[in-house]
Amino acid sequence: MKVFVPKESVNRETRTALTPDSAKKLIKLGFSVFAEKGLGLLSSYKDEEYSQAGVQLTNRKDGFSLADLVLRVRCPEASEVSEMKSGTIHLSFLDPFGDQEVVKAFAKAGVDAISLEMLPRSTLAQKMDALSSQANLAGYYSVIAAASRLKKILPMMMTPAGTITPSRFFIIGVGVAGLQAIATAKRLGARVEAFDTRPVVEEQVRSLGAKFVKIDIGETGQTAQGYAKELTPEQIRKQQEGMAKVCAQSDVVITTAKLFGRKAPILVTKEMLAGMQHGSIVVDLAAESGGNVEGTKLNEEVLTDNGVTLLGLANLEGHVATHASQMYAANLANLLEHFFDKDTKQFNLPVNDEIVKSILITKGGQVVHEKFKHLN
Ligand code: NAD
Repeated sequence: MKVFVPKESVNRETRTALTPDSAKKLIKLGFSVFAEKGLGLLSSYKDEEYSQAGVQLTNRKDGFSLADLVLRVRCPEASEVSEMKSGTIHLSFLDPFGDQEVVKAFAKAGVDAISLEMLPRSTLAQKMDALSSQANLAGYYSVIAAASRLKKILPMMMTPAGTITPSRFFIIGVGVAGLQAIATAKRLGARVEAFDTRPVVEEQVRSLGAKFVKIDIGETGQTAQGYAKELTPEQIRKQQEGMAKVCAQSDVVITTAKLFGRKAPILVTKEMLAGMQHGSIVVDLAAESGGNVEGTKLNEEVLTDNGVTLLGLANLEGHVATHASQMYAANLANLLEHFFDKDTKQFNLPVNDEIVKSILITKGGQVVHEKFKHLN
């Protein structure tokens, strides 16, 4: 079977869905692997490295016409889907809740589209979990981005010129990204506090040496997949009240609170920002899904009247594109391996498999996923 990996077509995407190492793995399994020339330039993988790994470099048009499978990081614009031939299997992030036009376009073009966001959070699927591998790096980079703008150092320093106290970080939302943000800020010597609405998180925060901020907002809990439930407006108000004081004492606030498939809640209000110190930094990791912070602008740095910098960077993991691509490509190679029949040398997606049921959005010209069938 032939796999083709085109260059990313969405602006600002620096990652790639294939690395020379993941290509080697796919070729060993029995796939023929094709890549668009210049595929890895933005993530520092050279054409020669792909060639040495056994990848055949081609142009975009030929790649699409020969491909049985297409691998990408981002899904294409709806208008680009028709570049692919009917019967192709397309694997990428798809944002099926946000971009329903592209789902319809995939069905219309007869392309079988897989959405990596929909992967179940099971032990079996962990090795393919691209959402987690990328969130982990986004959490890391959020701390680096904040540290590089902060006019303070992070660790405590005792010097003959006096003692510097550690910077204070407050992490709101402790999923995969939040945990890595805590770990990274701790490694750099900051004093870290964190809050999440899922009570199970408290122990994890403590085990990283950070302090869990206790706010009583009543019944919360999590879904069977481990995601946070949506709070009532009254609960959000109580949470904001509880967090205002911690924000005011913090040099850096990092928000990672997302709600799967829905707009992120506003957790840091203009009033809370007004109470923060001059020179503080707020990094909003939910900026792409609506933002947790009032006033963040996607991909812009906003300076508030009282000197707080709001960073609403999208695709933080794209700033460490070499490693982000390494992990993403490995997730995809693991998925391909999982569903590859070594005897028949075919990639099969059994429609009754639990993982396939979760990730397969369109098949044979129809929207087949339970949650999106209404788009037919
Ligand atoms: P996410 O990106 O959807 O959300 C980030 C965090 O924000 C979550 O911890 C969530 O509880 C929190 N949040 C939501 N609303 C909030 C609010 N109002 N205030 C404060 N925090 C709020 O989450 P994620 O990183 O995908 O992780 C969700 C859970 O799934 C975690 O427990 C994670 O460990 C788990 N997980 C399990 C697996 C697996 O078992 N294979 C894989 C990945 C993640």
